Amino acid sequence: MSGVLLQDIPLTRLKGVGEALSDKLARLGIHDLQGLLFHLPLRYEDRTQVSSLGSLRVGSTAVVEGEVISAQVQLGRRRSLLVRLRDATGLLGLRFFHFSAAMKKQLEPGVRLRCYGEARPGATGLEIYHPEFRVLKDALAEPALEQTLTPVYPITEGLQQQRIRQLVQQGLALMAATPPEELLPPSFLNHQAFPTLTAALQYLHQPPADADLEQLATGLHPAQRRLALEELLAQQLGMLLLRQQSRCQQATPLLPAGQMQLEQQLLQSLPFAPTAAQQRVCAEIFQDLAQPQPMLRLVQGDVGSGKTLVAALACLRAIACGYQAALMAPTELLAEQHYRNLIQWLEPLGVQVDWLAGKLKGRQRETTLQRLAAGETQLLIGTHALFQEQVVFQRLALVVIDEQHRFGVHQRLALRDKGIQGQTLPHQLIMTATPIPRTLAMSAYADLDVSVIDELPPGRQPVTTLVLPDNRRPEVVERVRHACLEGRQAYWVCTLIEESEALECQAAENTHLELQAALPELQIALVHGRMKPTEKTAVMDAFKRGEYQLLVATTVIEVGVDVPNASLMIIDNAERLGLAQLHQLRGRVGRGNTDSYCVLVYHPPLSEQGRERLQVMRQTSDGFVIAQKDLEIRGPGELLGTRQTGEIELRIASLQRDADLLEGLRPLAEQLLFQEPDKARRLLQRWRGESVRFAQV
Ligand code: ADP
Ligand code: MG
Repeated sequence: MSGVLLQDIPLTRLKGVGEALSDKLARLGIHDLQGLLFHLPLRYEDRTQVSSLGSLRVGSTAVVEGEVISAQVQLGRRRSLLVRLRDATGLLGLRFFHFSAAMKKQLEPGVRLRCYGEARPGATGLEIYHPEFRVLKDALAEPALEQTLTPVYPITEGLQQQRIRQLVQQGLALMAATPPEELLPPSFLNHQAFPTLTAALQYLHQPPADADLEQLATGLHPAQRRLALEELLAQQLGMLLLRQQSRCQQATPLLPAGQMQLEQQLLQSLPFAPTAAQQRVCAEIFQDLAQPQPMLRLVQGDVGSGKTLVAALACLRAIACGYQAALMAPTELLAEQHYRNLIQWLEPLGVQVDWLAGKLKGRQRETTLQRLAAGETQLLIGTHALFQEQVVFQRLALVVIDEQHRFGVHQRLALRDKGIQGQTLPHQLIMTATPIPRTLAMSAYADLDVSVIDELPPGRQPVTTLVLPDNRRPEVVERVRHACLEGRQAYWVCTLIEESEALECQAAENTHLELQAALPELQIALVHGRMKPTEKTAVMDAFKRGEYQLLVATTVIEVGVDVPNASLMIIDNAERLGLAQLHQLRGRVGRGNTDSYCVLVYHPPLSEQGRERLQVMRQTSDGFVIAQKDLEIRGPGELLGTRQTGEIELRIASLQRDADLLEGLRPLAEQLLFQEPDKARRLLQRWRGESVRFAQV
C-alpha cells in the first residue's frame, strides 16, 4: 500500500471544495476524507424504480411518471398551482405553493413528467406537495433511474443534499484507490461475518437497489453493526486510556493506622453488624486507598443498602491517617441528614465533622472555612457549596460523592481539584443508588472500578405497590387514616413538572391544607424545597420522633430520608416521574418491621410510557430490573444524568440496540491497546477525533 492514509487526504482534494465549503463541512464534524466517509446517511430514498400511480398510498415516497392532464392556479386559503397527473393505473395531484409563470407554462397538458415525493391526502385525493420533477421530452431517451438507493445525509445550512452526495461519490472513488485502514482483527470480522470497513462504507453510501431498507432503517444491517462495533471499541479504548492515565497519577496511600482503629470503634458502637456485601465493598475500597494511585471507584447499592456506612468507614481511614475527607450530596436535605447521622456516629470517636451549604452565611460560614483551612475539620459534609472558590482544605485526601447521577462530571472534578497538592490527587469514591445495567456500566463506566452492594440489611420488608387513578383518592385518604391510627406513619408526596419547584411547593401546600381538612384527627406536617433549612430540619425531626403521623412533601425527600416507622407512601401524579425517581421515593418505606405499601396515584389518561412505568413499579422492587427497564423505555442518556455529555456521544452505535456487541469488547480493547497501541490510537482518532476529553479522570 502507498502509505497514504485516508485521514491525511484534505477535503480540498475533492473537486469544488474551497474554503467556504470546507467550513460548512467542518460544522458537520467533517475535517478530512475519512470524516466525510464516516458521515453516514440518516436514511435512504428508493429512486431505482417507477411506481404506478395506482399503487401509491398515503405516506408512500416514490418515483412516479405520468402525463399532465391539467394545471390550474387555485385560489384557496393559500394560492397554489395544482397539476393533475395520470398514468394507466390512476391519478395524482401535484401541488406547488411557490411557482413561477414559466413553471406553469412548462407543465401544460400533454407533457410527461417524472416526479419524486411523498404522497399525502389532499383536496383532490392523493397529492404530492412540491415534488422534485423533470419533464420527459423524448420517450426514446429517458434519463436513467438511479442504480443504487439514494442516501439522505445530515446537512447544515447552505449545504444541499445534492452537493454532499456528489462529494461522497468523489470520496468513494478516492477510497477505492486508498482504502481506509482495517483496524479490526480479521479473525474477529470473520467470526462475526462482518464486511470489511471498505465494503461497509461502500454499501452504506450506495446500497444496492435490492437492499433491505427496513433493516437499514433499524440499524441492524451487518455493515452498520460492523461500524457500531468499531465505534464501541473506540469508546472502550478511550475509557481504557483514561484509566491508564489515572493509574499514572499519584495519590497518598492511606494505610490502616495502627493505634487509632477508628473503623473498629465505629463498628463496635453500631447497633447492627455490617452486611457481607458492605464488608466486601469496604475491603475493595481499603485496597484501593492503600495504593499510591488515586482510587476512582463507583459503589452501586440499591436504596437502603447502607452506602453511608461504607462511606463513613472510608472517611475514617483517611482521617486516621491524618487527612481530611469531604462528602458531597446533591440536596441540602440529604447533606443535613448525612451530617446529623455522621455526627452521631463519629463525634463519640473524637472526629471533627463540619457542615457547609450555600445557605450557611456570615460568622458561621467564616468559622467553618477557617477550621477547614486550618485542618481542624476532619470531615466536611455539604452540597455543591463544597467546591466553591473560597473553600480551602488543608490536606484533603478523599472525596466522596453521594448520588453521583445528580452531579455533572465538572462538579465532581471541581471538588476533586480541591485536594490536588503538587502531583498528588485525592482518592474518589462515587456512590449511586441508581443501578446501572451491566452493559451500560461496561461502556459508560469502563474508566471506573465498580463495587456493588448487592444485599440489603436483614429485616427489610418488601413494599407492596398499588396503582390507582386519582378519582379513587378518597379510598387512598381512608387508607392513610387507617394506617396512622394504627400507629404507623405515612408520606404523601406531591410531584409536579420538575422545572417548576415553585409550582411543586404550591401543590404540596394545597395538598397539606386538603388533607388537614379531610383528616382532622391526624397531625400532618409539610416539608418542601422552599422552606428554610432549619424549618425543614425541625419538621423532619418531629416526624422522626413521631410527633406527626403524616408528612406531606415534595420530591425533596427523594434521597436519604430514613424513618423506619413510616410504612405507607402515597405518590401523587406518579406518572410524571421516571422509574429511577419512583424507585428512590419508594425506598423511603419498607425500612421498619411492618408491612409497607406504596400507592402510585395517577391522573388519567396514561401515556403508553406512563402505563409501562407504573406497571414495572408494581411488578418489581429490584433496582437492577428497574434500571434495565428504564434504559429500555428512556434510553441511556437520561439514566446516566449529566455524565454522558461528551463521553458517550455515539454517532452510529446505540447502547440499547447494540448492547450485545459490548460483550467481549473489553478484552478485545485491552488486547489492541497492549499489543498494537499505535493501531489503537488510530482507531480512537478515527472515531473520537479531536473531541476526546482526556482531562476528565
Ligand atoms: P443508602 O444505601 O440508601 O444510602 P443508608 O446508608 O441510608 O442507605 O442506610 C439505610 C439505613 O440502613 C440506615 O438507617 C442505616 O443506618 C441502616 N443500615 C446500614 N447498614 C446496616 C446493616 N448492616 N444492618 C442494619 N441496618 C443498616
Ligand atoms: Mg444514601
